[in-house]
Amino acid sequence: MSFDANLATERPTFVTHLECAYTGKAYPADTVHNLSEAGKPLLVRYDLDGVRRTLTKDALSARPSGLWRYRELLPVRRTANIVSLGEVETPLVSLPALAKRLGAAPALVKDEGRLPTGSFKARGLALAVAMAKELGISRVAMPTNGNAGAALAAYASRAGIRSTIFCPADTPEVNVSEIELQGATVYRVNGLIDDCGKIVGAGKTEAGWFDVSTLKEPYRIEGKKTMGLELAEQLGWKLPDVIFYPTGGGTGLIGMWKAFAELREIGFITGKLPRMVAVQASGCAPMVEAWKTGVEHAPRWENAHTFAAGIRVPQAVGDFLILRAVRESGGFAIAVDDDAIRAALDRTAKDDGLLLCPEGAATVAAYEQALADGLVSAAERVVLFNCASGLKYPLPPVTRSLDRLAPIDYASL
Ligand SMILES: *Cc1c(COP(=O)(O)O)cnc(C)c1O
Repeated sequence: MSFDANLATERPTFVTHLECAYTGKAYPADTVHNLSEAGKPLLVRYDLDGVRRTLTKDALSARPSGLWRYRELLPVRRTANIVSLGEVETPLVSLPALAKRLGAAPALVKDEGRLPTGSFKARGLALAVAMAKELGISRVAMPTNGNAGAALAAYASRAGIRSTIFCPADTPEVNVSEIELQGATVYRVNGLIDDCGKIVGAGKTEAGWFDVSTLKEPYRIEGKKTMGLELAEQLGWKLPDVIFYPTGGGTGLIGMWKAFAELREIGFITGKLPRMVAVQASGCAPMVEAWKTGVEHAPRWENAHTFAAGIRVPQAVGDFLILRAVRESGGFAIAVDDDAIRAALDRTAKDDGLLLCPEGAATVAAYEQALADGLVSAAERVVLFNCASGLKYPLPPVTRSLDRLAPIDYASL
């Protein structure tokens, strides 16, 4: 099979309709949608019996790697509408030094920082932009803490779609810069991500753009779902016991839970599903609070703060879906503070040689805390998600220098 077979071969597709995740009301596929009439996310539904009859594990394993190999479980109808920047299968990297220190089974990090634009936002936006192309949309807009905007800019430019992007004023320079450089028009806004979201929503009619905010269109979640499909296949269709996911809008957690349900339905996996753990920062932990109090919707978190910008989301439109996945799976939600995140980032880089993003480091800190609290046992097989390349974030300064013209005391170096 040629290297680009996933991008060049027509394959059967199985989308039947969209469904309101809250009321269950059906909506037609193949037309433009944002939220349902109830103001809730729409989920893509497939003829899974059809997929079961058509797709085999062997056929799948013969295809080139990357998310487009899962075409039968994706919404894009025509191969010509695929938009790709080379989405690799992201590796599972073990942390032996951490395992030794904790006396636990080696946790695996799924390192999503290897994807185009350096974060797993590429998965969601590849699908959202491909579907925008398929549905004839020519202008898109979104609020972002950085990584989603970069992915949207890149994929939209590649598809010939114009993108306008709004980010909080304190978004790291590198993110604002990469967004603009990849062809979007980007604005810094004096507010948080949900304030930016309000601008996108309010300008829809006048500016004529399509809103691709997290879960406000149905397809980003299908892209994020491929994390679950890929993880299952990588592990020989045997899922881990526990998954730690740094949760902002929650697309990835919801998407993976959807992936596991679909894989079970088509007979690719059997038995117990992983416990899903929503990891948040203690400066912005609406899901942790909602999980503790047992409510279905989480009130907005006021004065949200954490340097892990990707999980600084005060209110999520898919809150009930995050909480449902956590509860159905027997998982939990856990908050870690910025000091613990920083320490985990530092230690993982120094001891295991893996540079995580702060959000990824939050999962390491949460895993340690969960072990200490007895929420997870040392024998359980754990997967942690590193969502972006650590290189996209401001790094600590180094002040050590050496004067080559002065005598050098080599023994002290
Ligand atoms: C967006 C983002 C998250 C949160 O992902 P969701 O699926 O929206 O919860 C976590 N980490 C990083 C680096 C991100 O960019």
